[in-house]
Amino acid sequence: MSARAANALPGFDAESVRRDFPILDQQINGHPLVYLDNAATTQKPECVIEAISNYYRRDNANVHRGVHTLSDRATHAFEQARQAVADFLGSPRVEQVIWTSGTTAAINLVAHSWGRSTLRPGDRVLVSWLEHHSNIVPWQLVAAATGAEVIPIPVTDAGEIDLRSLADLLDGRVKMVAVNHVSNALGTVNPVLEIVSMAKAVGALVLVDGAQSVAHWPVDVPALGCDFFVMSGHKLFGPTGVGVLWGREALLEAMPPFMGGGEMIERVAFPTTTFNSLPFKFEAGTPNIAGAIGLAAAIDYLGTIDREAAMAHEAALLARTLELAAEVEGLRRVGTPAHAAGIFSFLLEGTHPSDVGMLLDQQGIAVRTGHHCAQPLMERLGIPGTVRASYSIYNTQEDVSRLFEGIHKAKRLFA
Ligand code: PMP
Repeated sequence: MSARAANALPGFDAESVRRDFPILDQQINGHPLVYLDNAATTQKPECVIEAISNYYRRDNANVHRGVHTLSDRATHAFEQARQAVADFLGSPRVEQVIWTSGTTAAINLVAHSWGRSTLRPGDRVLVSWLEHHSNIVPWQLVAAATGAEVIPIPVTDAGEIDLRSLADLLDGRVKMVAVNHVSNALGTVNPVLEIVSMAKAVGALVLVDGAQSVAHWPVDVPALGCDFFVMSGHKLFGPTGVGVLWGREALLEAMPPFMGGGEMIERVAFPTTTFNSLPFKFEAGTPNIAGAIGLAAAIDYLGTIDREAAMAHEAALLARTLELAAEVEGLRRVGTPAHAAGIFSFLLEGTHPSDVGMLLDQQGIAVRTGHHCAQPLMERLGIPGTVRASYSIYNTQEDVSRLFEGIHKAKRLFA
């Protein structure tokens, strides 16, 4: 057990966690920063910033091909980082971890490699109305190329996947069910285990978009039973530009390469080229070496956190938020899922979300406003967008109070 986990008090010392994140210690528009845009990207602890900086200061070289010491060091750190991700996700084999530039790139990889080689006219890909655009549009592109169809899985007014409708949609035509673990727009935690078992019953594969889940609780990917799992480093206290595709080995083995170039080949010749083994088959070109190292540092950092306590802390922040929200006349929480993770989406009667967002920024409070890259969901809910506050391990009850001071001010000014 790490020093911090061993020292963790009952409850959770968010103030101490907060001090690990240098960016949080600043004034915005004359007020101490309250950062509540964690679903868009999380902040980075000092150790991640240092790992990236140290890599560039001491070890920078290209990976895998070099015979010199720096290249050896860079390769070692890069492959150690892959192992750190494999351990973090509970992957049986490190070869199942493919580096990508993020969740979006990982979904595109599956859609274009598995999808184009497998889908036939009349086949179906189910995605929920809760999805981020990055789990809709790649499937639409592949559907257009293959003659397959993308069918949305209905959601309830509470913002939960309607499992009865899913059951009705599932038949032999469905080849893939692609859903997020947690909705970035509403915070809904989707019943992935149940969705996987329903999909498996008709022989469909399941892709889980874990962009929003991994920062909130430890995810054992094999235990989910899905075929693909994708995530982004930057939503997990790591850098931007790095992410992961995890896949079942047999599927990854059978899938054709998505991008061609250096590193992904075994031998290039005219007229035919043979391809490298996993995971390199899917990693054409120079990878984001510093990004991978930064992500591994973020995973190490999470290892110093008592994650059970962190979850309880985030749940307490959301519970207090809902209490305070209930006292604000004209405030409507958008989506009322029974199980939500760290996200509070709302509308304030008589105000536009972007006006509320700008007023909060004037008070040093960073939230996101708009459709949250989930336009179909907004259309389904009959709204143009929301104001979204999203919590992380370093937010405090003081942050929640500041948010509501801001909301009350917005109400006085606009509503
Ligand atoms: N899926 C979900 C649920 C997300 O929240 C996001 C980022 N907002 C993405 C996919 C896309 O992630 P990225 O931009 O890091 O590729």
